[in-house]
Amino acid sequence: MHNGHQSNGSRAGSGHDSKTIVMGAGPAGLCSAYVLSKAGAHATVVEAAPFVGGLARTIRRQSDHGEFKFDIGGHRWFTKNEDLNDLFREVVADELLWVNRVSRIYFDGKYVDYPLKIASALKAVGPVTAARAVLDYGRIRAKQRVKPAEVKSMEDAYINQYGETLYKLFFQAYSEKVWGLKCDQLSGDWVSQRTKGMSLVTAIKDAIIPSKGKVVSLIDQFMYPREGFGRFSERMADSIEEAGNEIRLRNAVEKIVLDGNRVTGIRVRTENGSEFIEGDNFISSIPFTVLVKIMEPAAPQDVMDAADSLTFRDIITVNLMIKKRQVTHDTWLYVHDRNILFGRFHEPKNWSPAMVPGDDYTSLVIEYFCTKGDHIWNMSDEQLVNQSVKHLVEDLDFVTPDEVIGGFTLRATKAYPVYDLHYQEPLLKMKNYIQSIENLQYIGRGGSFRYNNTDHSIETGMLAAKNLLGEQHNLEAVNADEEYHEIKREQASVV
Ligand SMILES: Cc1cc2nc3c(=O)[nH]c(=O)nc-3n(C[C@H](O)[C@H](O)[C@H](O)COP(=O)(O)OP(=O)(O)OC[C@H]3O[C@@H](n4cnc5c(N)ncnc54)[C@H](O)[C@@H]3O)c2cc1C
Repeated sequence: MHNGHQSNGSRAGSGHDSKTIVMGAGPAGLCSAYVLSKAGAHATVVEAAPFVGGLARTIRRQSDHGEFKFDIGGHRWFTKNEDLNDLFREVVADELLWVNRVSRIYFDGKYVDYPLKIASALKAVGPVTAARAVLDYGRIRAKQRVKPAEVKSMEDAYINQYGETLYKLFFQAYSEKVWGLKCDQLSGDWVSQRTKGMSLVTAIKDAIIPSKGKVVSLIDQFMYPREGFGRFSERMADSIEEAGNEIRLRNAVEKIVLDGNRVTGIRVRTENGSEFIEGDNFISSIPFTVLVKIMEPAAPQDVMDAADSLTFRDIITVNLMIKKRQVTHDTWLYVHDRNILFGRFHEPKNWSPAMVPGDDYTSLVIEYFCTKGDHIWNMSDEQLVNQSVKHLVEDLDFVTPDEVIGGFTLRATKAYPVYDLHYQEPLLKMKNYIQSIENLQYIGRGGSFRYNNTDHSIETGMLAAKNLLGEQHNLEAVNADEEYHEIKREQASVV
């Protein structure tokens, strides 16, 4: 069943009595093991790090003032999929909070609502630029009607949707910070995955007259675990272990051993050396580019080359502990200015007061998008902390130096799969190869080289597990619709 679909891996000893090995204990891998554990099936999770949660974990830091908690960039839970909402609620249970979302963009010394609210944007740029933005937009719409332009790059996609003026003001600089490439070097796929359905005309109309069937933001409120997003993973891990299954931390997968088109086992590096773990079914959430390169026997050379041509973007967070009640009201603040190297920050206390030791304290998590080895990555931790504080004091006027009582950095690699202009062909080649292996499924964000948030990451994990329990799901269909993730059409009820 390989026509573009992943194998359901169920040919040898499917279901409850077979042994499943899950690689990676981020939300996706844990979700597979959680679903299998709930069904009474066997699952062993192997994780390279000494902790669970992957990119979605929460770091705890003791200070003289008490404990601070930091996500790797704030993680909110949102999804349109009620099965996933149910799972999230079931796992997080009594630790669940609802958080109001208020986010802004800082650019040119001004603030604009985020997601980009056109009325607020036009007001911030002044009448002359606003008029140019509307004219530009009118021109692009008229042109589209006569002959729709081909969308190849991220730049094409943004200009087609917003016109050149708004693109240059609100999308270009930030996108280039996030991805480290010019927008004409990036694929338009990311934009169509993220912003389909947003139209300037609709936005202006909606700002003036609330219409029926109006586009409603799903994320004005979102769910969040009281003690940090990492609790979602930690609680899944607890349930997996309570069901008698095992999570092996500090077990880095080094080889996937094949016999023909089946995996027989994996070789892991442990603290004491190396070990071979056998299994019947395998689920991988480790980076896709790594997976295809650790096959034994090795994957064909063209597949290895394909893996080498795909890249990830990395991230450094600067985590500041602050003796002040509150810095902003924002959930996130996006920083577009090119002379400020960080791209975004959030104030964890605005998400949950339990993220800081008491009411007199707050904290900030500042995100630097970078690539291992570049000028940002090569900055020392001290430089990064000092530079962040300097911008907060001098440019943003948010804190005074003495209010910052401590700071540290966290470096995470392979945080964002980069969709450059040529990523699809090599990715397809890699998928065709992996899909030819009967009892191996790939899931997650890095694991499928797909820009999945936690909802889509765990959806693939959940479906991979269900495939092993006898259902038939195509994991490639997850997050494949191009509808904007964060909005839904509400048909009735808008008065
Ligand atoms: C800055 C930032 C902000 C984000 N904000 C949000 C948000 O607001 N909402 C949201 O829903 N999502 C958000 N996300 C996305 C979210 O983090 C991911 O969707 C999610 O973590 C993906 O889960 P995963 O299990 O697929 O991958 P990961 O979390 O990356 O987990 C993969 C695991 O595999 C392990 N691993 C890797 N190699 C090996 C190996 N060789 N052997 C064994 N183990 C290995 C890793 O150590 C890791 O634990 C954000 C991501 C980032 C970077």
